[in-house]
Amino acid sequence: MNCWFTEMQTPDMAISCRVKKTLHEEKTPFQHLAVYETDQFGRMLALDDVIQTTIMDEFVYHEMITHVGLNTHPNPRRVLVIGGGDGGSIREILKHPSVELATLVEIDERVIAAAREYLPEISCALGDPRVRVIVDDGIKHVKENRDTYDMIIVDSTDPVGPAEGLFGRAFYQDVHDALTGDGLFVAQTESPFFNRDLIPRIIQNVRSIFPVTRLFLACVPTYPGGLWTFTMGSKKYDPLEANLEQLPDLKTRYYTPAVHRAAFVLPPFVEELLQSE
Ligand code: SAM
Repeated sequence: MNCWFTEMQTPDMAISCRVKKTLHEEKTPFQHLAVYETDQFGRMLALDDVIQTTIMDEFVYHEMITHVGLNTHPNPRRVLVIGGGDGGSIREILKHPSVELATLVEIDERVIAAAREYLPEISCALGDPRVRVIVDDGIKHVKENRDTYDMIIVDSTDPVGPAEGLFGRAFYQDVHDALTGDGLFVAQTESPFFNRDLIPRIIQNVRSIFPVTRLFLACVPTYPGGLWTFTMGSKKYDPLEANLEQLPDLKTRYYTPAVHRAAFVLPPFVEELLQSE
């Protein structure tokens, strides 16, 4: 059998991967959802033909979108994930003993159902008693919940369709207002190679709302360009000054205190994105 999945990562560039088996495929009210079995990446979740997560490299993304922020805040108790229906961010959040409640607000319940069925390694913590799963639009949820969360993680799809509003200034203002007095948020903010217009806009918007704004990097091979950015907006705590001594054993494969610090060392072509207007 010679069946390939192809994602057009830009109009002129694609990533392809041989598919051993299509495990699941459906059109949900929000997107085309597919789970593939592959030799290269293990099981793979794609939405609208865009790779969301794979068994091979999901740990990098999920550890970095969660632990950098959770170890910057001294006592994160209530944590919100917007998007993230695969459950990977929730799995990592629950490794922190300070967390009392982890809330997942995912717009598409079919993503959660598919992850539960086909990606148990990623979705395994969704049934934990400390987890609350809400099927709703994250934009609406932050508007309706003020002064509630110590940390918010924006684990979204790319800025098109239902996720478009998750990259705008009004949303970051609502995130700010949904956070407690010393809260912080981390969002996945796309590729420093291919999103060179978007990232400076995000940085400008976050800077206009949060006293501390930081960009950091991680390597996620199945995302366009392999190098990925995350943006943190924080009301008080600076990730560069975080006390990373005596952390609990997080059983991570990418994140360590040294990686935490190193992730904020930006090559000049990325630093430029923080300077541009
Ligand atoms: N790690 C992934 C990436 O960067 O490709 C993101 C994975 S996660 C599956 C993204 C989720 O965000 C999708 O399941 C999608 O349904 C959800 N999503 C998109 N827009 C949303 C919104 N406005 N509110 C809540 N969830 C949303």
